[in-house]
Amino acid sequence: MRILITGGAGFLGSHLADRLIRDGHEVICMDNLFTGAKRNIAHLMQHPHFEFVRHDVIDPFKVEVDQIYNLACPASPIHYQYNAIKTIKTSVMGAINCLELAKRLRARVFQASTSEVYGDPDVHPQPEGYWGRVNPIGIRSCYDEGKRCAETLFFDYHRQNGVDIRVARIFNTYGPRMSPEDGRVVSNFIVQALNGEDITIYGDGSQTRSFCHFSDLIEGFVALMEQDDLVGPVNIGNPSEFTILELAEKVVQMTESDSKIVHRELPSDDPQQRRPDIALAKSKLNWEPSVPLEEGLRDTIAYFRDYLDG
Ligand code: NAD
Ligand code: UDP
Repeated sequence: MRILITGGAGFLGSHLADRLIRDGHEVICMDNLFTGAKRNIAHLMQHPHFEFVRHDVIDPFKVEVDQIYNLACPASPIHYQYNAIKTIKTSVMGAINCLELAKRLRARVFQASTSEVYGDPDVHPQPEGYWGRVNPIGIRSCYDEGKRCAETLFFDYHRQNGVDIRVARIFNTYGPRMSPEDGRVVSNFIVQALNGEDITIYGDGSQTRSFCHFSDLIEGFVALMEQDDLVGPVNIGNPSEFTILELAEKVVQMTESDSKIVHRELPSDDPQQRRPDIALAKSKLNWEPSVPLEEGLRDTIAYFRDYLDG
C-alpha cells in the first residue's frame, strides 16, 4: 500500500514510517518540522519507498494513497502552548483535511488521539466509555479540546459519509527520537540526569503517569489499522502506573547521575493520575504492551547519551 503519515518526521511518526517500510509499504511523510526533525528520517531519505513532503496539515493537500495516519500535532505541553491557536487549528483543520482526503480516496484514516481527552480524570483507570473531566478554557485546552473536536469530526465523517476511521487514544509514550528540547517528562529527566543538572519535578511528584515504550505503541497502531471490526476509540498505552517522583528516582539511579531532585510549581490543570484501561485493545486487537519501564528506559537513555555526546 501507499500510506501517508502526517507528522511523519516526529518521534512516533518516524518510528511508524520505519515499521511500515519494513512491512513493504510505500510511505509519504508529511510534516512542517515544527517539533519534528529531518534527523529522525535521515536514514529513510534515500529509500525508494520513502518520500518527504514539507507541508502544513492546516492547508489542504492532494495525494493518492490507500491509508492515512494523522499524527501531525505538537504533543508536549511547552510546544502546544507556544502557539495555542495554531495547535487547535492543527488538530481541527488537520482532521478535516485528512478526512476529506480519505472520503475522496475511500482510504482508511487513523487519528492519533490522546489520553488528554479524559482531562484530569475522576474515574481510574480510564476506560473508553468515560467522557472525561476537561477544562475548556485552560492552558491545556488548545490540545485537549482540539483532540476532542478531532474525534468528533472523525465520528461525524464516519456516520455521515461512511469514512473508514480508526481512532487510538494514546497514553504517555517515550523512546529514542524524542527531542531533547521536547519538554516532556521522560526526555527532560534523562537529559537533566545525563548533563548533571537538577531534575525538575513539577509539584510534589505524587501525580502519576503510565509510560509506554514506542515499540509497543506502534504495534498497537498497526493492529488497529489492520483489522476490520473495531473503529475505536481504543486506549493504547501501558497500564503500569508510576508517580513522577518514582520516575525521577529511577532515572537518577539508572544513569548513575549526581543530579539533585528539585521541585518547581505545578502547571495548572496538570492531571493528577492517569492509567489506561486496556481491556478493549486486549480483547479486540489481541494487543498488550510487553516492554517494562526499566527496559524501555535503558534504550532511551542510550539514545540520549549518544545524542548529547555529539
Ligand atoms: P512529535 O512532536 O515528535 O510529533 C509531532 C509531529 O507533527 C512533528 O514532526 C511536528 O513537526 C508535526 N507537526 C506539528 N504541527 C504540524 C502541522 N501543522 N503540519 C504538519 N506537521 C505538523 O510528537 P509525538 O509524540 O510523535 O506525537 C505524535 C502524535 O501522537 C501527536 O498527534 C500527538 O498528539 C499524539 N500523542 C502522542 C503521545 C505521546 O506520548 N508521545 C500521547 C498522546 C498523543
Ligand atoms: N513533569 C515534571 N517535570 C518535567 C516535565 C514534566 O514533573 O520536567 C510532570 C508534569 O507536570 C506532568 C508529568 O510530569 O505531571 C507528565 O508531563 P508530560 O509533559 O510528559 O506529559 P502530560 O502532562 O501531557 O502527560
